[in-house]
Amino acid sequence: MPELPELEVIKNNLRRQITGKTVRALTIIKPYVLKNYFKDDLHDDIVADVQRRGKYILIFLKEYVMLIHLMLRGTLGFVLPSQRVKKSVAAVVHFKDGTVLELAERGHKKRVSLYVVPRRKLDAHLNVGVEPLDLSFTQKRLSQLLSKEPKRLKSFLRDQRTIAGIGNAYADEILWSSRLSPFKMTANMDSRETKRLYTAIKDVLVWAIDEVEKRGVSDTREFLRVHDKKNKPCPRCQTRILSVHSSGSETYYCPNCQTHGRKLKDGRMSKFYR
Ligand SMILES: [Zn+2]
Repeated sequence: MPELPELEVIKNNLRRQITGKTVRALTIIKPYVLKNYFKDDLHDDIVADVQRRGKYILIFLKEYVMLIHLMLRGTLGFVLPSQRVKKSVAAVVHFKDGTVLELAERGHKKRVSLYVVPRRKLDAHLNVGVEPLDLSFTQKRLSQLLSKEPKRLKSFLRDQRTIAGIGNAYADEILWSSRLSPFKMTANMDSRETKRLYTAIKDVLVWAIDEVEKRGVSDTREFLRVHDKKNKPCPRCQTRILSVHSSGSETYYCPNCQTHGRKLKDGRMSKFYR
């Protein structure tokens, strides 16, 4: 699933490609993709800007905003009209100059989402937390968020209503970078650990955006240091990376750097493994 770094690069590319273009029509090919009732025509509306909030790509028109969530296997492609529409394409934005923007679903789960909402209703629709790369996300703000409710750090980082844009992969990278256990409880963080976590959030995301920009957006993310690297050596201490299945997804960590040599087990007791 694309997370903040990939979506930031997708957004930057899209902003260059479609800002200022006039919309001729929005064609919904697969009805499941459109998640809200929308009857108005976007004909002749102009793309004012493209932004990202959390895991949403936002295409701002004069009166409306198109909110796109790629979920697990969605793609956004800016193409020339001569190319044939692929089977995976769920919706198409046609521009007056003949170019098109295709929203496609490569998986079988039909989870790609598109909302078209009036601009004034955007905030009510989004409901996402602070942007971790914004100046407003300070260490103090992180401390406040950590003390809000007791949670494991991994779940805390992935909660979109708290901090927006971080998912399974970059949560693992951030925790490895800050040498913290994925199962450590938010309430048990001291100020030095909070500082490490804060620095890691910013550093990992900035580093990852740079890597994705260099390599292009893909699912492989070979540059990652711990996520999806089971049995590979930890780049810091050479200990074998382990994984644990928890809350429906796989968490990767270095037992030497992050859990005092202990192996994490899922279940209620594992919260005591710090
Ligand atoms: Zn290590």
